[in-house]
Amino acid sequence: MKKVLLVGNWKMNPQSFEEAKELFLEIKRGIKDTKKVEVAIAPPFVFLYLLKNLAGSSVSLVSQDSFWEKKGAFTGEISPLMLKKLKVKYVILGHSERRIYLGENDQMIGKKINAVLEAGLKAILCVGEKSKEDPEKIVKEQIKNALSFVEKKVLLPSNLILAYEPVWAIGTGNFCPPQNAREMLFYIKKILINFLGSDWEKTKILYGGSVDSLNAQSYLKVGFNGLLIGGTSLKPKAFLEIINSI
Ligand code: PEP
Repeated sequence: MKKVLLVGNWKMNPQSFEEAKELFLEIKRGIKDTKKVEVAIAPPFVFLYLLKNLAGSSVSLVSQDSFWEKKGAFTGEISPLMLKKLKVKYVILGHSERRIYLGENDQMIGKKINAVLEAGLKAILCVGEKSKEDPEKIVKEQIKNALSFVEKKVLLPSNLILAYEPVWAIGTGNFCPPQNAREMLFYIKKILINFLGSDWEKTKILYGGSVDSLNAQSYLKVGFNGLLIGGTSLKPKAFLEIINSI
């Protein structure tokens, strides 16, 4: 049985290492059982180094981004190999906030996925439509375009995770009705079969967008393999309620 993957995306929070440490430890200490669930936390880059000694089998570390080159003159960037040395297991790529505020496109995201997989890390590719966009058309294009930059030899289905995150649902409290998300889940599965062949089921598919302790279970019930959780992952009580309800 696949473990449910719960990824907490802290974005640009909290503001100090002391707060990050406290939050990380509160979550870690509150987890009751890890047989069915894997918890992974994505703090800001600057806290990864300091949290690496606290991470382990019950909570793994996630990076919120990484660059496509291994080293060199790329001011401000971090390579997947550097992240690997910090015990990072997953890298979130193509988050809508990076697409919108930093102009990341499918080519950049695809090259980043390639570099992450080449380094032996797991890539979490975020896809999703803005309001008024055609969900299936956008999601298909985002997956197809990004994966076209990934070499076949590194594209191990178990190292790729898809996160369906409708942009209009992120941070708004306006979550996607689970039945609608389920339709997208099946659509994404069809796309993955084309790219990954018979091993496609090893790719986990997550839902993200205003997940809280009241709606979390409904996405797992309709078949998602896990959740990408922003705001609620900064509230230890609510986040732990989701974790311990699995
Ligand atoms: C996210 O950051 O990917 C996210 C889903 O945020 P929130 O849970 O706050 O909507």
